[in-house]
Amino acid sequence: MNDYPVPKRRMVEFGPIREYVELCFSVPGFGASDIDLLAAKLSVPSLREPVCDDISISLNGPASFDGELEGEAWVHVRREQVKLRKILTGDGESACCAICGDRYPLELLVAAHIKKRSLCSEEERRDLFNVAMLACVLGCDALYEAGWITVSGAGYIQTADSLEPSALKSRLIALEGKRCTAHSAGSEQYFAWHRSTVFRA
Ligand SMILES: [Zn+2]
Repeated sequence: MNDYPVPKRRMVEFGPIREYVELCFSVPGFGASDIDLLAAKLSVPSLREPVCDDISISLNGPASFDGELEGEAWVHVRREQVKLRKILTGDGESACCAICGDRYPLELLVAAHIKKRSLCSEEERRDLFNVAMLACVLGCDALYEAGWITVSGAGYIQTADSLEPSALKSRLIALEGKRCTAHSAGSEQYFAWHRSTVFRA
């Protein structure tokens, strides 16, 4: 019997940095679209949901599982997040958001991937000096991730402009045209991906 720890998603102690631990299955007979079926057979609540640290599953059990289940599992820890924190924040207790420019305590900043991490190549993930930026959790991180804002090829904040007057609209107006301090010749390729893929132009 092989037991694999499944801390699929958990917060760890790296200040503002979110470190996730992922478990990836390769199970004969189950494809990516079968994840819910696989979760049901393994008698775990869901493989999509964050799970706590001490959940473990057995790939040959539990007893209620009657299908064939062999396979490999591997855990990939995002060690580069630790390096990202050091690169982006240094040793200070506060730092500036790359989007709004405001200074915040580190716990209010996250290391946001400029290009969605899951779509980065291995080489891009290792490009630690260019692939991520510090963004505040007071709005900039979420607005960027959801595509309400992006960064132009010249390095300035662009905002989606198809909104009626609203609190969101007001926030976007406040950010429009600000200089993104994370933009550089090296990071432009990642911002270009965001502009063409995520931004609600
Ligand atoms: Zn900000």
